Amino acid sequence: MEFKELGLAEELLRAIAEEGYVEPTPIQAKAIPHVLLGKDVMGAAQTGTGKTASFTLPLLHRMKAHASTSTSPARHPVRALILTPTRELAVQVWESVRTYSRHLPIRSTVVYGGVDIRPQITDLRAGVEVLVATPGRLLDHVQQKTVLLNQVEFLVLDEADRMLDMGFIPDIKRILALLPARRQSLLFSATF
Ligand code: AMP
Repeated sequence: MEFKELGLAEELLRAIAEEGYVEPTPIQAKAIPHVLLGKDVMGAAQTGTGKTASFTLPLLHRMKAHASTSTSPARHPVRALILTPTRELAVQVWESVRTYSRHLPIRSTVVYGGVDIRPQITDLRAGVEVLVATPGRLLDHVQQKTVLLNQVEFLVLDEADRMLDMGFIPDIKRILALLPARRQSLLFSATF
């Protein structure tokens, strides 16, 4: 199977080709069509299987319709929220988001704990459509009103089993309560 058979936007196919990807990995071939159709997806996948692209590519494709070249922060509300258990994973996922969105006017950033919150606030104020976050720091931003989650359309829980092990369930429940009820949810876990 080839990437172009999946019906992804030309800007995404170009970014993938630049990365040297020739064909989708098994999880990509399976998950991408479902995500493109707007369905909720639960995927069992370890790191190294290409799972990041399996959710990032179709989400970016679906967000392309909203892509705005406006410089006004109000035109860039958070539409996709990707939660990860650790700072390392958050940074890695954000790097993938940046790579794949390279040819689209879609803004993204990453927030995680253990570092100064102020540069993150500056980034959030500028407006981002894709936010990668660890749960605790995201709630700090919610409390400080530096992020609004009421326009989130896509939620990804990456490495959900590790979030469970690390005791993030109460934080995740609080975050879910802030999201619109109508949204697409994607959950990836090495184990179920
Ligand atoms: P992940 O499982 O998402 O952490 O991805 C593991 C690695 O595989 C990353 O370095 C990706 O850049 C790479 N990768 C993802 N999808 C493909 C693909 N279809 N072909 C080749 N490499 C890929």
